[in-house]
Amino acid sequence: MQKSDLTRIIGLGIPSTESQARAILGATGTADYRTLRKAYRRLAGEAHPDRFANDPSLTTQATQAMQVINAAWEIIDGLHGIGALGSSPSQEAPRTSGTRSSQWNPTMRVPRADECDLCGSWPAQHVHIRSLTTVLIWFSPGNYQGTVCRSCGTALFRNALRRTMIGGWWGIATIATPIYFLLLLGAHSKLKSMRPPAFRDVNVAAPFRSPVVPPKSPLKSFGPMLMTGVALFITLWFIYNIATAPTPSTTSDSPSQSDTITGAVTIGTCFRAAGSEMVNQVDCSEPHNYIVTSTGTNSLDCPATGAGYVSTDPGVACLTVDS
Ligand SMILES: [Zn+2]
Repeated sequence: MQKSDLTRIIGLGIPSTESQARAILGATGTADYRTLRKAYRRLAGEAHPDRFANDPSLTTQATQAMQVINAAWEIIDGLHGIGALGSSPSQEAPRTSGTRSSQWNPTMRVPRADECDLCGSWPAQHVHIRSLTTVLIWFSPGNYQGTVCRSCGTALFRNALRRTMIGGWWGIATIATPIYFLLLLGAHSKLKSMRPPAFRDVNVAAPFRSPVVPPKSPLKSFGPMLMTGVALFITLWFIYNIATAPTPSTTSDSPSQSDTITGAVTIGTCFRAAGSEMVNQVDCSEPHNYIVTSTGTNSLDCPATGAGYVSTDPGVACLTVDS
């Protein structure tokens, strides 16, 4: 990056609106989040002060340019996090004059570590809010890290929770969904412990002029609750079916059943198949499947060409197909 590029970026000043942030990242008004992120990473790499280590006269300018680039990214990332990227023209701060200052504006500043990246309010804390959407083998984790006030943070949290409750169930990544809920729970308890936003310095550059009003809790919304309910029902149904599935058995085509028939069985006795492994002794005048053609002391005594055997007490009765 040349000196002129650094000067140009510094000249754009710390952004306070989405369109200003887009202009700094050099992206068109319709560029999506991924494109903007790429642009940010490229710029941040090119303008990093370490790059100008051999030309100390430029490090101060590089540092200022990085501040501008980072501030632009915080706005884009923050708006994306609350689902407001590209849809917040009404939220744009009114400009104090018709034209932008072409000089570095010393009165505007980036939010401090205890001020909200999104609305500039104090107090604020660093939070990490994650969400997950998955369909079949596709999944898309959401990830917002930044300093936010309780109000903006709650908006981010509720959007992430809604996204995960609706989309976290329908693909391979569902195995990670419970972890995402635990992480969200952690973020929620941190937000709960914060004080509400109390003060905003007018010189803070942030995309919103007042704290973002959180949307309705997804726990009180029909759609997310329905999706979560359906997912839990399917999960429980699967668990129930696995738990109650019959254990695989060594099935054979011949009726070598496990229950011993009490009493001696004579040649000419008829059996009817009763399930894959069971036979019932029936009168030969009734419909039947097998007839006893010989008896022995164990199954080895039965001919290999036969239809199997039934254990009797004592010995076995060898069967032949008969109907
Ligand atoms: Zn805020």
